Amino acid sequence: MVSERLKNIPASGTVAISNKVSRLKAEGQDIISFSMGEPDFTTPANIVDACIGSLNNGFTHYTPSPGIPELRRAVAETALAENKIPCRGANVLITPTKQAIFMACLAYLDPGDEVILPDPAWVSYEACIRLAGAVPVFIPTKFEEEFIVDPALIEAAVTPKTRMIIINSPSNPTGCVLPESVLRQIASIAVRYDLLVLSDEIYEKVIYDGEHISIASFPDMFDRTITVSGLSKTYAMTGWRIGWAIASEECISNLNKLQSHSISCCVSFAQQASVEALKGRQDDRCRFVREFKQRRDLAIDLITEMKGLDVNSPQGAFYLFPRYEPDIKSAVLATRLLEQAHVAVTPGSAFGPAGEGFFRISYATSEEQIRVGFERIKKFLADL
Ligand code: GLU
Repeated sequence: MVSERLKNIPASGTVAISNKVSRLKAEGQDIISFSMGEPDFTTPANIVDACIGSLNNGFTHYTPSPGIPELRRAVAETALAENKIPCRGANVLITPTKQAIFMACLAYLDPGDEVILPDPAWVSYEACIRLAGAVPVFIPTKFEEEFIVDPALIEAAVTPKTRMIIINSPSNPTGCVLPESVLRQIASIAVRYDLLVLSDEIYEKVIYDGEHISIASFPDMFDRTITVSGLSKTYAMTGWRIGWAIASEECISNLNKLQSHSISCCVSFAQQASVEALKGRQDDRCRFVREFKQRRDLAIDLITEMKGLDVNSPQGAFYLFPRYEPDIKSAVLATRLLEQAHVAVTPGSAFGPAGEGFFRISYATSEEQIRVGFERIKKFLADL
């Protein structure tokens, strides 16, 4: 009875593994999870206190569907100051980041349209594109080139049906950060062929080397770019479901039409607390990035000692995407790692055809978990 639209769409690979890990842990199994991309820190106290204050003040009703004006303004001010995106509150829609991507695809893709995206890429882009009836066109990236997408390949893939390019820097799953020169070339392709760009910048603040640049800050790009980001990764607020889209007012009004017919608005008290996240003290978010960097360095040291794995040192996000030698499918490797070594990782194939032969490790977990988990992976690989 399920619709044609949904029939061939798999459930999210990342969420499915995380659900499985929760079940196994509830059964009492000692699982070390490197599967879900979520910080292990708790949300900073000033944000939690602001939420409690909001609840105690009775801020528990619907809000305007595009979000409370204070939060839209706070997002716009931050995007202007830190990302040089020429926007104001009216250019912001408050919505969970994943919902923003989903709605952008529904609002701007028609059946048969083509969307160019790098491969490997985060698991849900393909599903959102297909649910809109459109077709993903994957541009393979290479381990040897730090997974940086080649703009010449993007240009070669443009056809009369191409409608959108999706970029994600820093990238999930590879952690690669697109250099300014590459972003500028992608921008000029978008302008030349009159394409939309969906720029997923959810890891924008989790960056260790290099600088985060928003493609919407380039000349002629603001009106053709939907920039999506949110609080989940920066402020350890995954459960709060607060993110946003930044775009032209016309685009925001189109996305808001979908929002008004679906979730209505984001959670009221989470929105008020989010103003505190953006405007209040920022020391916790800086500490998180310092700790992620230490964990990245530790994880890379430990992997480098292991036989049969090769890894890049990613510049951002909190993922490693090692290439493995054994000749087995990544889905099989991940299942065996979980069942035999009690370590959860995400198979590379979940991120697209070029992800086969790799697996993703989220190191947003404690150093102790990293040490114990990597010891288990090492032993597992040695016994293979
Ligand atoms: N984005 C995170 C991940 O890739 C959270 C899960 C999801 O939304 O896919 O693990």
